[in-house]
Amino acid sequence: MTMAPFFQYFPDIAAAETRSAHVSGMPGLPDGECGFFESYCVEPSCDCRRVLVNVVRADIPNKILATINYGWESAKFYGKWLGNMADAVTAKGSALDPFNP
Ligand SMILES: [Zn+2]
Repeated sequence: MTMAPFFQYFPDIAAAETRSAHVSGMPGLPDGECGFFESYCVEPSCDCRRVLVNVVRADIPNKILATINYGWESAKFYGKWLGNMADAVTAKGSALDPFNP
């Protein structure tokens, strides 16, 4: 799958709907403003129905601090798409990307 930032295709909607959170006093997390930037698959032949949410801080915007994978379909959908239920269970819902936790 080839992922592309949502704001690349829909800058006006992204500017209006991109969410952020102010982190303060959370153990293990530095205080500051974090933004959550969505990327979606743009391969016409792919039907993965997943989003990657990259977490960045306002004061270091070029560094991705974490990536959250989210599959919004049912385990049944991912089981059919992936060909097995073991992988489908991990594809459904949210998880931190193991390459960028
Ligand atoms: Zn895809």
